[in-house]
Amino acid sequence: MSDQKPQTRAVRIQAEVTQHREHSVPIFATSSFVFDDSEEMRAAFAGDIDRNIYSRFTNPNVAELSEKIAHLEGAEAGHSTATGMAAVFSTFGALLSSGDHILACRSLFGSTHTILTKILPRWGISHTYIDALNPDAWPEAVQDNTKLIFVETPTNPAVDLVDLERLSALAKESGAILAVDNCFATPVLQRPIDYGAHLSIHSATKFIDGQGRVMGGVVVGDADLVKEIFDFCRATGPALSPFNAWVLSKSVETLALRMEKHSENALVIAKWLERQSGLSAVRYPFLPSHPQYEVAKRQMSGGGAVLAFTLDGGLAQGKRFLDAIEMCSMTANLGDTRTIVSHPSSTTHAKLSEEESQAVRITPGLVRISVGLEDPSDIIADVEQALERSRD
Ligand SMILES: *Cc1c(COP(=O)(O)O)cnc(C)c1O
Repeated sequence: MSDQKPQTRAVRIQAEVTQHREHSVPIFATSSFVFDDSEEMRAAFAGDIDRNIYSRFTNPNVAELSEKIAHLEGAEAGHSTATGMAAVFSTFGALLSSGDHILACRSLFGSTHTILTKILPRWGISHTYIDALNPDAWPEAVQDNTKLIFVETPTNPAVDLVDLERLSALAKESGAILAVDNCFATPVLQRPIDYGAHLSIHSATKFIDGQGRVMGGVVVGDADLVKEIFDFCRATGPALSPFNAWVLSKSVETLALRMEKHSENALVIAKWLERQSGLSAVRYPFLPSHPQYEVAKRQMSGGGAVLAFTLDGGLAQGKRFLDAIEMCSMTANLGDTRTIVSHPSSTTHAKLSEEESQAVRITPGLVRISVGLEDPSDIIADVEQALERSRD
């Protein structure tokens, strides 16, 4: 069966059918699993037989989701967690020790930045940030104790890219583990493992759910690394609930279709934005004007849903723009069927100093759109009227 195409596996992988011969997978809402006799229970605990014991360790719905994502990414193994941040933190917790160093791209998801700057230093783990747009700076920042290279591509919210092939060559040379937060691209549009990454991490809360319902995280990659992450999670407890796993696994069946349409809509809107006045720096990976268009074309099969642009009127116009939006949603999430607009300078990134904002290319007028699955003409109509009304 393993020669089936990834999309077929995304639809067809499913937990073992029970004696009821159900077609749709049931939710295994059970905290533990029973044994026939003491020998079977002993063997399960010893790891001599492959059995579910307790849902903090394994659960059929959770295993089904992990297996689907591992197949989509071309990875050896996978493990799912309660949230995307649980997947990120478990990766750090399982693989790093006091004295280790992380090399990371500067524009990281806010909570990942908090872990690197506030939590890991207390445990003697240091980091160096490199600008995603400055790949020449990566090799000289590698230290003898660099254990992990951690990047996001495309980055949030500036939509910069990291060249995965180049970075995996550096990881190989230096003996570091390369982990990629693949949340924005999803396994459908980008497969970091194909380019030499050891681990690919997802906030399943975003596009894998795709409909703004549940939270989850997944990490897939080399079997020995995933085993260490699994063992860390088994003991520390960031388990994904069976219900959430069931929702997410169902969503994976339509992930490819949705990402194709998200990408199609986003490209239409990005091209339209480029023709408008009063704004600049429209950033979308599949726009030929993107400074790393070549990288995008090489490592992504679609541009994804997220685009950004800068309003000429800066911070004040950004706020007026949000207030003028009628249909699109103003919310902290992204990766939904419904288009979401945000203004990082007045919200998610308001605490950054001017210098920090500049370093991650968040201009005061930067607007991020997570383009949804509405008809693109309606999204454009809403953005157009908001642009018009936000001009002073
Ligand atoms: C949302 C997000 C996360 C965190 O995921 P949660 O499911 O919210 O914990 C990590 N990385 C990126 C790039 C994200 O967008």
